Amino acid sequence: MITASPSARLSPPAVDWREPWRDAITDARELLETLGLAHLASALPPGDAGFALRVPRGFAARMRRGDPRDPLLLQVLPQLAELDEAPGFAADAVGDLAAREAQGVLHKYHGRALLIASGSCAVNCRYCFRRHFPYGEEMAAAGQWRQALEHLRRDATVSELILSGGDPLALATAKLEELSRGLAGIPHVTRLRIHTRLPVVLPERVDDAFAAWLAALPLQKVVVLHANHANELDAAVDAACARLKQAGAVLLNQSVLLRGINDDPDALAALSERLFAAGVLPYYLHQLDRVQGAAHFEVDDARALGLLARLRARLPGYLVPRLVREVAGDPSKRPL
Ligand SMILES: *Cc1c(COP(=O)(O)O)cnc(C)c1O
Ligand code: SF4
Repeated sequence: MITASPSARLSPPAVDWREPWRDAITDARELLETLGLAHLASALPPGDAGFALRVPRGFAARMRRGDPRDPLLLQVLPQLAELDEAPGFAADAVGDLAAREAQGVLHKYHGRALLIASGSCAVNCRYCFRRHFPYGEEMAAAGQWRQALEHLRRDATVSELILSGGDPLALATAKLEELSRGLAGIPHVTRLRIHTRLPVVLPERVDDAFAAWLAALPLQKVVVLHANHANELDAAVDAACARLKQAGAVLLNQSVLLRGINDDPDALAALSERLFAAGVLPYYLHQLDRVQGAAHFEVDDARALGLLARLRARLPGYLVPRLVREVAGDPSKRPL
C-alpha cells in the first residue's frame, strides 16, 4: 500500500479555483485587445454602463479572435445600447422583492424554496437582473445560514431546496458544509438543487473537495447549469460535468433566449446536442427578464415560438427545452 505524504504526490497539486477567479478580466479594453478587437474600445459605454465587465480568462479563451459578433463576447461586453430607456424594462422585473420570506429566502413556488446563497458571480452577464441587485444584504449564507434554515424547518411543505444567487458555487466548500450540517436536522427537505454557471465559466471550481461534498450529501441532487451557446462548452467543462455526475447529480441546463447570440435554430440545436454530449439535458429556455439595460437582447414571443417549432422538427423531444417566461405572482414559470 502506498501512503501518500504531500511530498510523495506524483501529480502536481491542482490549481486552487480562487486563483483563476481572482485573475478574471475586469477591463473591457483588455478583453477587446486580447481578441484583436481594440478598435471597438471607442464604442464602449462610460463606466461599463453601471455594471462592471467580468469574465474568467478560460471563458474568454473560448471566444473567436477578431469576431465582434462572437456569441460569448456579446454576453459579457458592455454596450452603448444598455443606456437606452425601454418602456416596460424595470429594475425588479420578476417580483423578487415581494417574494422574500426570510434573509436570502425566496419562496414563490409550492414545495421549492430558493436561497440566494451568494451575491457573487465569476462572470457578469449583461442580460442579468443581478445588474440591479448586488444582493449585498440578501445573502442566506450570512450568519451560518441561521435564518434560512429556520424558515425551512418551520415549513414542512418544502421538499426541495434550491441554491441560487448570484452563484452558490462562489461560496467556499466549507460554507456549503455548514449548510449541509444544518439541513441534516430537516428531514422534509429531500432534494437539493444548485443553479450555477460556474462549471461552465470556471470549471476549476468543481474540484476534489466540492465533488466529495456533493457525493456525501444524503439528498437527491440536481445541478442546473447555465449555458447559452455551444461554444461555451469545452473539454474542461466536459470534465467538470463528468465529476458532477459521478457525485450523483442529475445535470440540467437553462438558457436565456438572446437576440444576436442564440436566436437561430442552428445555434439552439447545436447547444442542445453539445449539452447532451456532456451528459446534460436542456431544461428551460427563458424568455428574457425585462430588466433595465437588456432590451436589445429581447426576442419577441412570436419569433421565439417559431424557433421552438423548428427545434422540435429536428431534435428528439428530450433535447427540446421548455420555453418559459417568469411572471411575477404566477405559481410557476409560465410556458409560452
Ligand atoms: C425559477 C424558480 C424556481 C424553480 O422553478 P422550477 O420550475 O422548479 O425550475 C423556484 N423558486 C424561485 C423563486 C424561482 O424563481
Ligand atoms: S446570476 Fe447567472 S446570469 Fe446573472 S450574472 Fe451571475 S452567472 Fe450571469
